Amino acid sequence: MMISKNISFSLTEYKSVEELNKEDEELVTAAKKAAETAYAPYSKFKVGAAVRLDNSVIVKGSNIENAAFPSGICAERNALSNTASNYPDSKPVAIAVVAFTEDGITKEPVSPCGNCRQVIAEEEFRNNINIRVILCGANKIQVIEKGGDLLPLQFSRNYLKISSR
Ligand SMILES: [Zn+2]
Repeated sequence: MMISKNISFSLTEYKSVEELNKEDEELVTAAKKAAETAYAPYSKFKVGAAVRLDNSVIVKGSNIENAAFPSGICAERNALSNTASNYPDSKPVAIAVVAFTEDGITKEPVSPCGNCRQVIAEEEFRNNINIRVILCGANKIQVIEKGGDLLPLQFSRNYLKISSR
């Protein structure tokens, strides 16, 4: 028998960073700062990400492009790889993302690509924690309490288990 299902998630929208709590506002500021270190000569699209750890340390990452395009890396994955490598005993609890074109910060929030969503989901899974995602544009800020919600039906380690059959 066929069953139709809907998958949905909730997010909160704000009009300006001043409406965020102090910690999130601080994380957005760090993400903007991170974007200044982006290396984006090809897309001219500079992205900054900042991850807050459960020990309150903030780790920044930016997009680093490459002439061999697939060798580039997104800001979100750069920041999360950095936290996992340098703070293995701490857990990421939030990530803020902001992007700039040559005209300045994007009006709308920019959402992580599929690869980064998969990495956020894995970090949540392995740390047994929800990662709060804060997407910041000039006119709108979106907050998603569990990053994995951005990737329904995500691939997970559960698929890698060897079948007993
Ligand atoms: Zn990405």
